[in-house]
Amino acid sequence: MNRDRIFNYYVGVIGVFGLASLIFATINTDYSVITPSVGFLIVVALFATSRLTLSLPHSKSYLSFADTMIFFAFVYFGGELAILLATLEVSISCIYLKYEGYPLRKLAIPFNISSTAFSTAITYLVWRSLPVLGIGGDYSQSSDLITTLGILAVVQFLALSGFAAIFYAIKNDSSVWQMWRKVCFSSSMTQVAGAGLAGIAYKLISYGDLLTLSVSLVIFGIGYINYRQLIHNINESIDQAEQAEREKTEIARAKAEEVQEHAKQLTSLLEKEEEITRDLRQSQRDLKYAAFHDSLTDLPNRAYLVERLNLLLQLGPEVASRYYVLFLDLSRFKNINDSLGHTVGDEVLRVVALRLRRCLRDEDTIARLGGDEFAIILNDLSSLNEAKSFAFRIYDQLTQPFVIQGNKIFSDLHIGIAPFDHEQVKPEDILRDADIAMHNAKDRNISVAVFDKEIRAQYLQHIKLEGDLRYAIEREEMTMHYQPLVALKDGGLIGFEALLRWHHSDLGFVSPGVFIPISEDSGIIIPITKWILNETCVQMAKWRRINDEFEDLSVSVNISGRHLADRSLIEDVTNALSASGLPAKCLKLEITESTAMENAERTIQTLNDLSDLGVKLSIDDFGTGYSSLSYLHRLPFDTLKIDRSFVMNVGEGGEDSGILQTIVSLTKNLKKEVVAEGIETEKQLSLLRDLGCDYGQGYLFSKPLPSNDMETLLYKRKTWLPAGYEERGSFSDDVVEAPSQLA
Ligand code: C2E
Ligand code: MG
Ligand code: MG
Repeated sequence: MNRDRIFNYYVGVIGVFGLASLIFATINTDYSVITPSVGFLIVVALFATSRLTLSLPHSKSYLSFADTMIFFAFVYFGGELAILLATLEVSISCIYLKYEGYPLRKLAIPFNISSTAFSTAITYLVWRSLPVLGIGGDYSQSSDLITTLGILAVVQFLALSGFAAIFYAIKNDSSVWQMWRKVCFSSSMTQVAGAGLAGIAYKLISYGDLLTLSVSLVIFGIGYINYRQLIHNINESIDQAEQAEREKTEIARAKAEEVQEHAKQLTSLLEKEEEITRDLRQSQRDLKYAAFHDSLTDLPNRAYLVERLNLLLQLGPEVASRYYVLFLDLSRFKNINDSLGHTVGDEVLRVVALRLRRCLRDEDTIARLGGDEFAIILNDLSSLNEAKSFAFRIYDQLTQPFVIQGNKIFSDLHIGIAPFDHEQVKPEDILRDADIAMHNAKDRNISVAVFDKEIRAQYLQHIKLEGDLRYAIEREEMTMHYQPLVALKDGGLIGFEALLRWHHSDLGFVSPGVFIPISEDSGIIIPITKWILNETCVQMAKWRRINDEFEDLSVSVNISGRHLADRSLIEDVTNALSASGLPAKCLKLEITESTAMENAERTIQTLNDLSDLGVKLSIDDFGTGYSSLSYLHRLPFDTLKIDRSFVMNVGEGGEDSGILQTIVSLTKNLKKEVVAEGIETEKQLSLLRDLGCDYGQGYLFSKPLPSNDMETLLYKRKTWLPAGYEERGSFSDDVVEAPSQLA
């Protein structure tokens, strides 16, 4: 059986007994004792007693005058009326409480009423069984009255509190004893006090006269009021004390909270301070990192590399000899920047850094020195060969094409390797040696070069030549040589190629193959070409005046890529023409195929500007620069010069002439003139003539000669074909000896 059912059953049982008690009391009450005045008093008492209560100090209990009335009824009117009055009183109290909004549990009202009726009935039964003091008992003896009321109070209390304890125990699933102690025990006082008051009331009414009764009532009223006032005061003081206590507790709690808040603030302050210190340390670390790293590639920078090299140098040659420094320089990086923009350029550098990281070991140091230059320290290698294989691996990795923003980029580079040696005392020394080796690789157009003393000597020579080149014109060490360009069909002269010669005051003749690249790299080629343009235009203007036949002769001047990219070229050409009075059509500018291809769009623009001046344009060394045909088609040139290497390679019976044939046909299709360079034998001449080549240049006709010598020949020669060539109708195999100064 579950608890609810037991509870309902219990309330039901009590209800039945309560009802039976009520019916019994109703039937057996002697109503004759209730005169109208007594009835009035009972009604007043019923309503008043439920309101007349005295709370006990320091306790939740209070004295109820209802108990007084019930016990009084027992001894004065008989137990049956007491049952009715008790039931009535508790009913009125419950209704009143309900009306006041007091929360009453489910079935509390019927249970209260029936348990009161039943317990009073039990008290009645006990009262009846008392031998002397029962019905019609004589209570004149105070001791009898006290005993009777005492027994009634105890029985009434036990019965009522017992029912209530069982009620709460079932409801709260607790033990009856616990509930009795907790809820019911304290109410025992009310029963005892009620019984005491009932005794006093009985005595007064039974034995006192009207005056005594009135005086007693007044005294009781005053006592009641005073007691209530006293209790009220006591309760107020208790409340005040409790309030003060509560306030004290509240203050203590607030203080504790304040302390806690302070502690919290302090903790958060400490945390903040710790955070600031951490941030400060981090920013110091960041700053240090930034000072030693390149922001674009996140690689260590030059400062870091120098520190590291310093350390190695301090360790001495024994340890350092197992380390190698590599110097890397990307070729044509400037072109990528110029043509595709700096964003792509930056991306290229990032990819290079990434690839370098991938193909090296963690212990190796990779640094970006700036621009397109990188340096590497290879750690702990057993031999130079190992360093070389690292360098070749890097070369292979970095020359793999990569696609950035849809552009397929081919990167090339040169690598210089420098071993540590005892002559290097500063980090800059070893870096310089690796740089020299890299330049050597560049000059020789190879991927990797290793530094040695000879390379250093060459480098120093290079530096010396570069320095001397700046003063070569001033010192009148530069002269122009002229080589004729000949019409192959009849040997007629159509013009000259102007070729620069340098007679160094100390070193003697320096080959153009040596000094031209130096002057191009350093940019000295621009003032030198300016000087050449003036010299040759004046010379050509002079030669044109010798004879009417020479009026259409032209002079070809080689223009370097560096100058082509410089806006001063147009101005330099214009000035040379106007200063010399040479018609623009008599000046031809030669641009090598590779230079023309380097920055296609810009070249087209510049060549168009030059063409607008009226000067002629020639593509030099054709066949070596990997022209794109579509692009060639757009270039505004007049002449195409076949590179010497194709002419040189033509064999005995005209083998390998296929390329020559192709170039000649191509040029014809493009409606341009074609010149073959480096013709040295009559066989080559005949073959080229047969292929339909228009013009030629080579030692077979004449070596490049100083202006005076060329002028003498101009007066003398009518045809530039080898003597007796036409008459022989066959070829001579004689190879013309190269001029000694070109060796
Ligand atoms: P290039 O412009 O292709 O000049 C032709 C080169 O071929 C000249 O060499 C010339 O002497 C050489 N040559 C001509 N016929 C023959 C031959 O039958 N056999 C052989 N073996 N060689 C022949 P050079 O004068 O030594 O010039 C070499 C290169 O230097 C030139 O090639 C040109 O690229 C550059 N260069 C020469 N002078 C100048 C100049 O004034 N300015 C610029 N920017 N470059 C120049
Ligand atoms: Mg040339
Ligand atoms: Mg050439």
